[in-house]
Amino acid sequence: MNYQAILEEIHEEVLDLLPCGTVATYIPQLATVSPQKFGMAVQTVGGEIFHVGHALEPFSIQSISKVYTLTLGFTFEGEKLWTRVGVEPSGSTFNSLVQLEYEHGIPRNPFINAGALVISDILLSHLKNPQSSFLEYVRQRANTVSIQDDPQVARSERQAGFRNAAMANFLKSFSNLSNEVEEVLAFYCFHCSLSMSCVDLAKGFLFLANKGLCPWTNQQILTPSQTKRVNALMLTCGTYDAAGDFAFNVGLPGKSGVGGGIVAVIPNRLTVAVWSPGLNDKGNSFAGQYALELFTTKTGVSIF
Ligand code: GLN
Repeated sequence: MNYQAILEEIHEEVLDLLPCGTVATYIPQLATVSPQKFGMAVQTVGGEIFHVGHALEPFSIQSISKVYTLTLGFTFEGEKLWTRVGVEPSGSTFNSLVQLEYEHGIPRNPFINAGALVISDILLSHLKNPQSSFLEYVRQRANTVSIQDDPQVARSERQAGFRNAAMANFLKSFSNLSNEVEEVLAFYCFHCSLSMSCVDLAKGFLFLANKGLCPWTNQQILTPSQTKRVNALMLTCGTYDAAGDFAFNVGLPGKSGVGGGIVAVIPNRLTVAVWSPGLNDKGNSFAGQYALELFTTKTGVSIF
């Protein structure tokens, strides 16, 4: 398959769409990014990498980081993890509060904000130096030391993040946070503030296409069965209340972030990462999702 030619065709086709979405403004620092950015990268299990556009430029990965917090938390807790967070799609926006009350403080899944806050709490309980250990974990997955957090983005989210603060307090009232609310929020904003490029993300998710084995460090990060579970969660919950639409149109497990990134996995074959900051009304990259749809259509490869 000539992936480079396919990426170039997709790049051409999406250029007209770039003004269509809306750059996230509720985290003020994210609003400073140009909506004209577009990058896409493919990393194959066989070791080849292909990319187009701004695929080497780091951007705020936001909720894509929740895949890494989940995989690390899953490693620490095993199946016990699922007593504190569910595995069902929420059908609600990523920052919705309503289900939490009905469901007694157990978030529907680890990718909505409430679920990710619980996972942050779990990591704080296991790691002596949570920020540096987490950063190191992500760098190792992507085989690069250049990945950084962005303190301005984290501060911007911390200052404007009233809903997440409400959610963390609510979780605490149900005894589903062990650490202090302030600490959990600070770590959550830290992991959402990591900056990575499409190339970093395509490389950094390869273990999920490779039965849990990180090819760069040769470490078994998850068992094949755990890898299946994380990919299943990305398929059903990775794009929130648009997960059905994403599965229908793209046909891959994927995880989005409000920085405009999306990473998708084709087990045993490849990962594909895309970045375009304009978002649709569900908070997923508008052109990014369309580019992934073109990718599975043009290659004829999806999980279905
Ligand atoms: N940090 C963002 C928030 O909590 C992450 C949301 C996202 O990327 N969908 O709102």
